[in-house]
This record gives sequence, structure tokens and C-alpha cells, in this order.
Amino acid sequence: MELNKLTIREAMSGLRAKKFSSEELTLACLKAIEERDSEINAFITVDGEGAVKSARGIDKRLAAGEELHDLAGIPVAVKDIFNTMGVRSTCASPILRDFVPPYDATVIELLKQKGMVMIGKTNMDEFACGASTEHSCFGVTRNPHNTERVSGGSSGGSAAALAANMSIYSLGTDTGGSIRQPASFCGVHGLKVTYGRVSRSGVTSLASSWDTIGPFARNTEDIATILQVLAGKDRRDLTTSPKEVPNYADFLSQDIKGMTIGLPKEYFGEGVDTEVSEAIKNKVSQLEKSGLNVKEVTLPYTKYAVSVYYITMPAELSANLERFDAIRYGKKPEDTPHNMIEYYFNARGEGFGDEIKRRIMIGTYALSAGYYDAYYKRAMKVRTRIIEDFKKVFEDVDVLVAPVSPFVAFKVGEMVNDPLAMYMSDALTIPASAAGIPALSVPVASNNEGMPIGMQIIAPQFEEGRCLKLGHALDNLK
Ligand code: GLN
Repeated sequence: MELNKLTIREAMSGLRAKKFSSEELTLACLKAIEERDSEINAFITVDGEGAVKSARGIDKRLAAGEELHDLAGIPVAVKDIFNTMGVRSTCASPILRDFVPPYDATVIELLKQKGMVMIGKTNMDEFACGASTEHSCFGVTRNPHNTERVSGGSSGGSAAALAANMSIYSLGTDTGGSIRQPASFCGVHGLKVTYGRVSRSGVTSLASSWDTIGPFARNTEDIATILQVLAGKDRRDLTTSPKEVPNYADFLSQDIKGMTIGLPKEYFGEGVDTEVSEAIKNKVSQLEKSGLNVKEVTLPYTKYAVSVYYITMPAELSANLERFDAIRYGKKPEDTPHNMIEYYFNARGEGFGDEIKRRIMIGTYALSAGYYDAYYKRAMKVRTRIIEDFKKVFEDVDVLVAPVSPFVAFKVGEMVNDPLAMYMSDALTIPASAAGIPALSVPVASNNEGMPIGMQIIAPQFEEGRCLKLGHALDNLK
């Protein structure tokens, strides 16, 4: 049995039955990292020693007969945007290359209370800006299914680590698609939660009105287990909702018969590769046989979502990244400056990569006097239209089903010099982000070259349960 390939449920049952120890499970993941990570580059920091120490602690408690949580002793890979106390957290940026946070993000704290074994910190696009993990000062993360291709982004390291069996589950962030798209490219499950469902405290902010945090796992059941721990109100993040957290496992056993799914026609049209739309439609036909109702629906404002995102997101990003001035946060500049302005110029000039500079310029431009109304405010108005589109359609259907990405994982280098083409790759994930609603990415097929294709299940606010219900049914179809 290859321990590093187990699901959370399998690993947890094995641990409880004393078939293997958490240390053995952890060592199996570390071995996979040793064997393959020089090629994949999923990790920025591997904390082998820390992981083995935590695993041994769990083994002792299990041996003493303690009843532990389902996630206790299960190795997890964490995106390098999460603050992890005492373990370097770089956001894949030169400006934070040596940053070791003095505290844990709330979600890390929550997982530690359950017996977390953190195997390491994963690679990402710098400050989570990108769709391929090519914008990282630590190099590109390659797709485990074909190393000539990208892993997706920005949480590419977390998706690739799981797909290459270097962890049993992972954590990522999704602002415009950064969990769902790499999950789809790497053939794993990934959940973007409702905005405000999971605390963002201690996770570096990108676009504060869009950012969410969520899990990657090998199946929907595991996603539910992790979400149960992450979800809920946090007094350190006032945007978290006080809404009660349901028991997510309950949704897994519900019958999907009678459920109505909507296929938004904008998600199957121009720009979407036929192999992708066909694969999704084939799955939908299979679901129809299990008693699902299928309806074609329309979300007319979809076509504006990318524009809305690339105005508001850089605007919010440019404000959030102000704090990296090498005084409050960030690496000091190499050259001795003559004055304060030069100090900022040098620190930020040396500390940020091209994509970040590009977005800061777009963002500050969109927010500058005279342009605010024309760009930011206008984009926010269109964003409201997108939200209304979804509200309306959810009066008729329970969930929406669509491709995650218009195409399978592209080749390393293919788009990196064409920012606009790269931005378009998020066309199908950004709308749900704009509306702050949940969406689950489920691997449903592969193309003829063996590259995974993911299906996106989108639900109304706080209805993650519906995504899980249909996701679980899809897992069982295979
Ligand atoms: N690819 C998108 C971007 O470049 C989404 C990033 C994200 O969700 N963090 O901004």
C-alpha cells in the first residue's frame, strides 16, 4: 500500500486501526517529495523535521488511546501565503523571501488544534497573481501529469503537491480562480467557499472583497471533512459570517434525484475548447440518468466579469501591497538610498516581480483622482449586475454546472509573455468570485493526452452543501 496516495478517510481509518503510524504516513509523503520535487517544484519550504515531530506526537496520543480528530496526523501542504508561525512564509515574492511570521493564520491555528502535520509550504504565483505558478521567484511549478505543462495558479504548488502524492490534502486561496483552476489542471478536487465563510486572518490579502480560503483533496468527502474545521466566524476577521456552519457530511448522503442543475450557455460557448465542453456535457448526461433535471440558463453579464475583476482586483491589491515598503514589512533594499522616496523606489523595485508591478500600476491608475468613478466605481456597479444574474438564475436551479477552465493545462512559457491571454484563462472562474458564491472543482475526465478536465459546481451563497452533494455523486459515478 502506498500510504501517500490515501484519501483522508483511508489514512485516518488506517491510523486508528494501527495499520501504520502518522510518522510512516509522513515519511511516505516526504519520500515522494525527495523523489520528484526537484522536477515538479511544488514546495518552497519543506519542513520535514517539523512534520515528523508533529506526527510522532500524534502517534503517542493514538497509542495512549486518545480519540483524535479525523485530520489528526494527516500530512497537509500549505500555500506560502498563509502565515505559519516560525516557518517562512514568502508569498513567492522577493520582498518576503526571508519573512518568518510570528503568528499563525486562524485556519492554521484551527488545524493545529486538530493535530495538524504540516509537511511544507507550497509554491504559488507571487502574491497569488497569476494562473500558472510561473510568476514565482522560486521558479515554475510543473504539472505532475506532464511536466512540460503548468500546474495552474495561483495555488499551483498546493494542487501539484497533492496530485504528485506529496501530501494527503492541501490548502490554497481563491480570489478569481486560484483553487479551482489548478485543481482542474492537476486532476484533484478544490473548493472555493462563500466569501466570509472561512477566516482570512493571517493570510496575506490580495483583493479584500474577493479573497477566499479553501481546501484541495482527493475526493468530495475529504473536502467536507476539511471545510468543517475551517468554516465559521472568527473575531479576527470581521468579514466572516456568524451564519451557523452546517454538518457538511450530511450532504454527502443526500439523494441527488430531483435536483435541478443549470448549464449557463455562456460557459460552453466561444473560447471554450470543444474537448472541455464535451467532457462536461457527457458527465451531465450521465447525471441525468440518475434523475437530475437539466436546464439551459443564461448569465448575460458573464462577458464583463474579467474586465470587472482586472479593474477592482488590482485596485484593491495596490492598496493592500502598500504595507510592503521595507519599513513595516519587506526586505531592505540593496543600495543605500539618498532619501526616503529613493528608499521606497529601491525596496519596491527590487522586491516585486513584473506581474505585481503591472497590477500596482493598473490599480493605482484606476483609483486615481478623476478616474475612480470611471473605473473602480463603474466596475463595482457591473459587479452588482453579475451578482443579480446569479440570484435570478438560482430561483430556477439548485446549482450551476460548467467547465472550470476553457482549456486543459497549457505549456510552460506558452502564455507568460501575454498577460491578456493569461487573464482570459480565468473567464469561467471569476464570475462566481465576483458574486462571492461557492464553487467546487471536481475532476471528471481527461483529454486524449491524459490531461485532466474539471467540472465546476456553483451554488448560492453559503450553500457549499449543494456543491458537496453533487460532487460526491460525481465521485461515485466513476
Ligand atoms: N488567475 C487570477 C489572477 O491572476 C486569479 C488569482 C487568484 O485567484 N488568486 O489574479
